[in-house]
Amino acid sequence: MASFLAIAKIDVMNAKREKEMMKIREEFPILDQKINGEDLVYLDNAASTQKPRTVINAIKNYYENDHSNVHRGVHTLSVRATEAYERARQKVTEFVNSPNKHQIIFTKGTTESINLIASSVTNLIEKNDEILITAMEHHSNIVPWQELCKRTGATLKVIPISEDGDILMDKYREMVTNKTKLVSVVHLSNTLGTINPIEKIINKAKSHSAITVIDGAQAAGHIPIDVQKLDCDFYLFSGHKIYGPTGIGVLYGKEDILNKIDPYQYGGEMILKVTFDETTYNDLPHKFEAGTPNIAGAVGIGASIDFINSLDRDLCHKHEMSLHDYAMDKLERIDGIRIIGRSSNKSAILSFVIDGMHPHDIGTIINQKGIAVRTGHHCTMPLMDFYEIPGTVRASFSIYNTHSEIDKLIDALKLAIKMLKQ
Ligand SMILES: *Cc1c(COP(=O)(O)O)cnc(C)c1O
Repeated sequence: MASFLAIAKIDVMNAKREKEMMKIREEFPILDQKINGEDLVYLDNAASTQKPRTVINAIKNYYENDHSNVHRGVHTLSVRATEAYERARQKVTEFVNSPNKHQIIFTKGTTESINLIASSVTNLIEKNDEILITAMEHHSNIVPWQELCKRTGATLKVIPISEDGDILMDKYREMVTNKTKLVSVVHLSNTLGTINPIEKIINKAKSHSAITVIDGAQAAGHIPIDVQKLDCDFYLFSGHKIYGPTGIGVLYGKEDILNKIDPYQYGGEMILKVTFDETTYNDLPHKFEAGTPNIAGAVGIGASIDFINSLDRDLCHKHEMSLHDYAMDKLERIDGIRIIGRSSNKSAILSFVIDGMHPHDIGTIINQKGIAVRTGHHCTMPLMDFYEIPGTVRASFSIYNTHSEIDKLIDALKLAIKMLKQ
């Protein structure tokens, strides 16, 4: 009886929280539509989040009123565009608690941020050096390092994980030696949902003077980021996964290393003085922002940060985890299901496979019911190899999802299983 009452009380709390969250859901116009005659249930938030009206309007407003090229003009629109662009940089600076604005570089996204680092550190990496990544990295945190190793003769080493999807920290501690020049680790796994103990990882790497890179693509929208407290050398994320636009991302770097490494691309904006004999490079952050930047994208990411700052982040976290736990409980009752990623410290991402059924077939059938999930390898093929599966079905939850949407997911999954069993 007591436990029954406890459960009822939790449900009341969840319902109350969800009512608050539904005011936020109304800010996302895209969610209010039918797909295949059914209400859209968007559970692909780890691939990209949807955009609130404030972000959409900020971009529209910028193009309708303020657009010109930045940094070069003396005319009013150019001044306004420059101010809008630099205001966005200031917002990112505060969002990650960077000590100053010029340590924030705008890129196309996490992928470009990692490519920038892997390219620009080339002069610091030598033959026989070692670069460490984990077994759960996204392809964008694998391939650029493989290429760097090819160029330099360094070796890429992979920190193993447990079956539950946690980094084996003892193994990691053994692997860090004086040969270790760089450690690049995902903060929050896009496939498993694991939140990695990056503070410990960074501390250990630093004790051997290795450069630390944190892929924050999934974390930035869910976990408050303090780069000074983390004390990492680089922290990276994408606008489109934090309710902002595509085509804009962030690279935070420590000042000394940003000054030490080479530019990534060469051209306008990133120079101080050009002659045919010699060129000198501009100061930070312009050294790393060659060419006309994505000004509207920066305005958009600035608006997405304003949006996040307007949220009660603790409430959002509790809501997302309540959705996760609710879905996990229902999924576990399905025959033949295997949950991929069972860390005790995870976020609202749920990957699973069902015996004898291909993830793509499941995804295709439940799309008929208006449900958007991601199926496949989630840009983590080596992780799929580790679990000996071709891919997973991944449901990833955001602030605007509801418990009744999870009921719909479960019903649609049951239907898919029935169809695929025939
Ligand atoms: C999405 C993602 C990336 C790549 O981000 P892009 O925006 O596609 O450049 C890298 N790492 C993780 C963990 C991701 O989720």
